[in-house]
Amino acid sequence: MQLIDSHGRIHDYLRLSLTSHCDLRCLYCIPEDGEHPFLDNRWMTAEEIYGIAGIFKQAGINKIRLTGGEPLVRKDIQKIMDYLARLRVPLSMTTNGVRLAEIIDLVEAGFLESINISLDTLRRDRFFAITKRDKFDTVFGNISSLIGMKVKLKLNVVVMRDINDDEVNDFVELTRFWPIEVRFIEFMPFSGNGWGQKKIVGAGELMRLIGQKYSCHKVPDHKHDTARKYQVEGHRGKIAVISTITQPFCSGCNRIRLTADGKMKNCLFSQTEEDLLMPYRAGRDILPLIRRSLRAKAAQTGGQLPFGSEEWEAESLINRSMITIGG
Ligand code: SAM
Repeated sequence: MQLIDSHGRIHDYLRLSLTSHCDLRCLYCIPEDGEHPFLDNRWMTAEEIYGIAGIFKQAGINKIRLTGGEPLVRKDIQKIMDYLARLRVPLSMTTNGVRLAEIIDLVEAGFLESINISLDTLRRDRFFAITKRDKFDTVFGNISSLIGMKVKLKLNVVVMRDINDDEVNDFVELTRFWPIEVRFIEFMPFSGNGWGQKKIVGAGELMRLIGQKYSCHKVPDHKHDTARKYQVEGHRGKIAVISTITQPFCSGCNRIRLTADGKMKNCLFSQTEEDLLMPYRAGRDILPLIRRSLRAKAAQTGGQLPFGSEEWEAESLINRSMITIGG
């Protein structure tokens, strides 16, 4: 069985948000008005996550990423990972890295195929300015302790003009000895996140900046990859750029998102959502709902993001904040 949208794209990758709470307050992710998302009892329980993920697997999903909010703030994270391991689908996680030490046994036991850790700066004071929490040493220490373990490690760096764009090559330097992939992500617009077109450092500009100091060549990407990968000569790790804004990669999209309160989003920027949790709780077959949502998927960026106009603002988007979608 396959999940195909009306543009012929096969969807086999589920990004599952476990919570809309987070222990960091990143300025680009959480709305400035501090919107506080959902009551806990609206979230999917571990058993519901397992049940719904199982239905997605039967429909053709063959990769699951746990995200949030911050997935590791869920007290039952070990139970959730135990359940999902039973599905025998490669599992990965996107995390801020603060609580990684708490699941180190599961990482060592091979529960996760890959871990993406968000880190936007290598400076302690700037980390505090971006996240409002003094956790740089913890995060960097946790990353260091994962190096050499049998798990793919990627660092997610959101590059913002005049905030951290002067550190791009410091991040590239990390790949000299660490066999990790450093991914530079273009700053994306969400309501209330202070976005503006001038704050984007686009993929082209990023590669020029890197090219001034390093020589690198393109390496092959998988057709569903959002990141365009490069190898810096002589480095053990790789770098990559995720150009959601300047060069969207929607034609190869294979992703479905499920929010922590059980709403399916067929795109990060989709304007509509399909509630799966209430029908699931009521014992209904949710597969037709999944297919209906997928059929409605827009060809590109949720049918939103009218680029090119300097006047355009993030507030005109119809969407949730990133923390409540799950990145
Ligand atoms: N708490 C986890 C974390 O920090 O990785 C997972 C959730 S977070 C929403 C997932 C990813 O989305 C992170 O790598 C984060 O940097 C990215 N992200 C959030 N807001 C963004 C924005 N406005 N533009 C680009 N990336 C963003």
